[in-house]
Amino acid sequence: MPLFGKVLIANRGEIALRVQRACRELGIPTVAVHSTADAEAMHVRLSDESVCIGPPSARDSYLNMASILSAAHVTGADAIHPGYGFLSENAAFAEMVEAHGLTFIGPSPDHIRMMGDKITAKAAMMRLGVPLVPGSDGALSDLDAAREVAARVGYPVLIKAAAGGGGRGMKVAESEDELSEAWHVARTEARAAFGNDEVYLEKYLDRPRHIELQILADNHGHVVHLGERDCSLQRRHQKILEEAGSPALTAAERDEIGATATTALRQLGFRNAGTLEFLYQDRQFAFIEMNTRLQVEHPVTEMVCGIDLVREQIRIAAGEPLGYTQADIEFSGHAIECRVNAEDPETFMPTPGRIQAYHAPGGLGVRVDSALYAGYFVPPYYDSMIAKLIVHAPTRPQAIARLRRALEEFAVLGIKTTLPLHQRIVEDPQFQAGDYTIHWLEKFVAEHLGD
Ligand code: ADP
Repeated sequence: MPLFGKVLIANRGEIALRVQRACRELGIPTVAVHSTADAEAMHVRLSDESVCIGPPSARDSYLNMASILSAAHVTGADAIHPGYGFLSENAAFAEMVEAHGLTFIGPSPDHIRMMGDKITAKAAMMRLGVPLVPGSDGALSDLDAAREVAARVGYPVLIKAAAGGGGRGMKVAESEDELSEAWHVARTEARAAFGNDEVYLEKYLDRPRHIELQILADNHGHVVHLGERDCSLQRRHQKILEEAGSPALTAAERDEIGATATTALRQLGFRNAGTLEFLYQDRQFAFIEMNTRLQVEHPVTEMVCGIDLVREQIRIAAGEPLGYTQADIEFSGHAIECRVNAEDPETFMPTPGRIQAYHAPGGLGVRVDSALYAGYFVPPYYDSMIAKLIVHAPTRPQAIARLRRALEEFAVLGIKTTLPLHQRIVEDPQFQAGDYTIHWLEKFVAEHLGD
């Protein structure tokens, strides 16, 4: 008996395909949903069934809860996988799915809500003994309160939106002179982007790495971690390239933060897949947020652990126990993922348009997660990521050699992409040495591309 009768995938692009693949291997039929702009998309073509849920604008289609629930109803789906982005961290949607008698393939609505507000997330983690970045205890009531906390933790500081995501609503103040402006800009941005101008303050770390931990938890109290991903290569707080494991971490450090995190999430009663994000500097971890969904960069973890994370999400949602313990999880080799965006590699302006020719690299240890094909039109309405190139090899130097070779093979003609940026990154001696922090890529771009 399959775990579900039919799964509706409330997403598009590569992640819709990714979830479809896991369902197919589990013998579960799938329903694709799509906007009118995506009628020809690969996730629609490869699905067992598809339903048009609205016009191109995401607000009217992929974020339209009523349309998606109707699509589930008319097709007889009994579970919904939200992918990442769109409704994946929307607690009200998860609640609505459950209220309609369907299974939401993800964490409980309460945990989605708790972690969706970074202030309540940090308070929960503090209670559970997870180390935090120094900063305000909760939301700041006014600018004077911000001044007080900033003086206590020391400049530079970061004003961050409680509802933040995608690097928005975040402003640095180097000194007290800049605090007022950072405060106003962060609040205005947060209000515009999230309809919530609550902000808090953190010490701005000058040379951290972004290291995150993948968690899986079943409904029977078993919680494991699948190791870390190093996502320090970022532009405007957006990840560009990710690695598993981190070039900076020792196995003992991984075990220690893993034990802290799994203990905390077991106490919280967390279930399904989630990621704890940390900043790591001077061999110290400091929690910044938790994502209660599958991450874009999950494949690097899959490659080093040999565990299909989407399959695990589906099994857990169906009530199955994990069936393995922390001791059973082994890390093998090194994996790197490049996010390929439909963007000009020098100006980063989006480049929607027709794909004239497409050739994906292959061979041992090469994986491409993408919904592209020759003749496809990349629409201007959605996120610009069009492919993920993932390589896996026994060692990091071998993974880099494989990545260089795979990038050479990768051909996406008709539009500009960020493939040339990745080609430059892999040639860089500092990258090759693993010697980088979250600020490295911005500098690299400024130096090499005259940004
Ligand atoms: P979002 O939810 O918008 O992605 P995060 O809190 O996850 O925001 O932070 C995104 C990125 O911003 C981090 O990966 C890191 O590069 C940077 N960042 C966040 N907090 C700090 C901090 N206190 N000091 C330095 N950089 C930070």
